[in-house]
Amino acid sequence: MAENHVKASPANRQKKYPIRCIECGEKEVRPALIDHQVKVRHDGREYQLRLDALPVTKCNACGHLYFTQESDDAISLALREKLGLLTIDQIRTNLESLGLRQKDAAERLGIAAETLSRWLSGAMIQSRAMDNLLRGFFACPDLRDKLRGCRPDREFGVLHEESRSSLTSFEFEDDVKWKWPEKWQAEAPQQPAIGGGDQMACEEEECIAA
Ligand SMILES: [Zn+2]
Repeated sequence: MAENHVKASPANRQKKYPIRCIECGEKEVRPALIDHQVKVRHDGREYQLRLDALPVTKCNACGHLYFTQESDDAISLALREKLGLLTIDQIRTNLESLGLRQKDAAERLGIAAETLSRWLSGAMIQSRAMDNLLRGFFACPDLRDKLRGCRPDREFGVLHEESRSSLTSFEFEDDVKWKWPEKWQAEAPQQPAIGGGDQMACEEEECIAA
């Protein structure tokens, strides 16, 4: 189905309905909630999302659908939910809880302030890798302290001989299950503090081959 993607400006949002359909010319376009499947690209992969009540505007004369800013927001929220990525509210609340200004957080993370701003406005969704970094950043004071953007602690993350012997490497089982090192079994939390559960999410099956 052909769909026009209309980026609604604040002025558009207050538009008086019905408005004229650019497909058929009838003045029959009104807000509607529809069941809809969309394909969305994120992080180099394509995902199929099913939305039960996607807000759109629809021409009641010819059935043509127009996606709006509200449609974008709903799709973005559904994708974050499907992929288990931090939500905009969670990121915002975490920054507030830590008393971090966006500019300072961005500087420590080594990203442009505009990038963080786009995540928070919903204009962009963080990648899985950046989501992992954000979770670590919010959860671990040490990590926050050590990350200095483009002025990194050059020793941080560099393993030396004496520390290697005390480390155990992780193993992957069946490519998807996260296996705790044996010596950590007793301490392994039911729900790891960082990440969503004891399985690494495998999106291969959920996403559509690009
Ligand atoms: Zn129409």
